[in-house]
Amino acid sequence: MRVVVTLACTECGDRNYTTTKNKRTNPERLELRKYCPRLKKYTIHRETR
Ligand SMILES: [Zn+2]
Repeated sequence: MRVVVTLACTECGDRNYTTTKNKRTNPERLELRKYCPRLKKYTIHRETR
């Protein structure tokens, strides 16, 4: 049930990270605070398809 998802920075749009999630326990879009190397700070990164 675990799927690979891509995380995109909500401020610059870069797709900086991939992770896995459990689709059954977490069916909605993931949002994580991650370091953005372009902006050199932590931003919200959201799951993309
Ligand atoms: Zn960014």
